Amino acid sequence: MMIIMRESATDNDIDHLIEKVKEVGVDVHVSKGAFATVIGLVGDTIKARDLPLATFPGVERVVPILKPFKLVGREFHPSDSIVDVRGVKVGGNNFTVMAGPCSVESRDVYLDIAKFVAKTGAQILRGGAFKPRSSPYSFQGLGEEGLKIMAEARDVTGLPIVTEVMDARDVDLVVEYADILQIGARNMQNFTLLKYVGQANKPVMIKRGLSSTIEEFLMAAEYVVSGGNNDVILCERGIRTFETYTRNTLDLSCVPIVKKLSHLPIIVDPSHGVGRWDIVEPMSIASVAVGAHGLMIEVHPNPEEALSDGYESLKYDNFETLMKNVKQAVRVFGKGM
Ligand code: PEP
Ligand code: MN
Repeated sequence: MMIIMRESATDNDIDHLIEKVKEVGVDVHVSKGAFATVIGLVGDTIKARDLPLATFPGVERVVPILKPFKLVGREFHPSDSIVDVRGVKVGGNNFTVMAGPCSVESRDVYLDIAKFVAKTGAQILRGGAFKPRSSPYSFQGLGEEGLKIMAEARDVTGLPIVTEVMDARDVDLVVEYADILQIGARNMQNFTLLKYVGQANKPVMIKRGLSSTIEEFLMAAEYVVSGGNNDVILCERGIRTFETYTRNTLDLSCVPIVKKLSHLPIIVDPSHGVGRWDIVEPMSIASVAVGAHGLMIEVHPNPEEALSDGYESLKYDNFETLMKNVKQAVRVFGKGM
């Protein structure tokens, strides 16, 4: 339930209402806009059902919310949220490209990729230090050493870094290095992990689960925001279907739907979304067209030798072409990059 206060509502009116709601055991989330204050009831809101809130002084109207997400919903926060990542703005009218290898494999290779993608126009560096691999025998990532290499690449290029945190026990460690904490598709419904990153003081990027509905995707974000962390970016990365020509089916319809339902920025990861390098570029252009706020792209100088996801990684020359064409599309669709 949301309570929209009149423009003329006083601080006393607002405090009085919050006090009464809290008395029945319901928490509140207050959003002060330029013209009106909106008070969202959080938690077991059913307990506030019998309060005659519409009659309280200063109340303009009471809006029952049928959708299970509130804090991430547009009703609660009509304008686009913009997440500031060390000065790089994600969301609104900005288009942001995050690029780098699937995994951080070695210092030399990572720094080479980082310098290349920075020079080519990427605004954020990606890389995995903790890797969620289907097989326990596959390369699992360099762990903290990988985070150190990424931090060095940030120093060299000036670009912020995004990397996955797989386990709640690693959140404190990853927070020390990363500028964005990535929640991987396989962990999208790891609610303990979501609660931990909800308390972190770093932006969080949540990837859509392999078999998750859009509502479940937004509920994962709701976990993080309800924990107190408003800086959430969503990432569509494809879902499991019966199709086998692609690794996943990149659900681009998710983007305009999420933009209707939520104020959070949403980017697209076509690399994992299709799992084959040869169609990453057209799907990137399509992502711009459907209104995505950015892209996450895997790049490797020698995909044949990549320790993970070589088949979906772009070589340098292909990434250069992609950036040239994406920049044009961004201009055509009226965004800034
Ligand atoms: C990744 O971005 O490195 C990754 C593992 O992606 P996803 O969680 O979407 O599979
Ligand atoms: Mn990958």
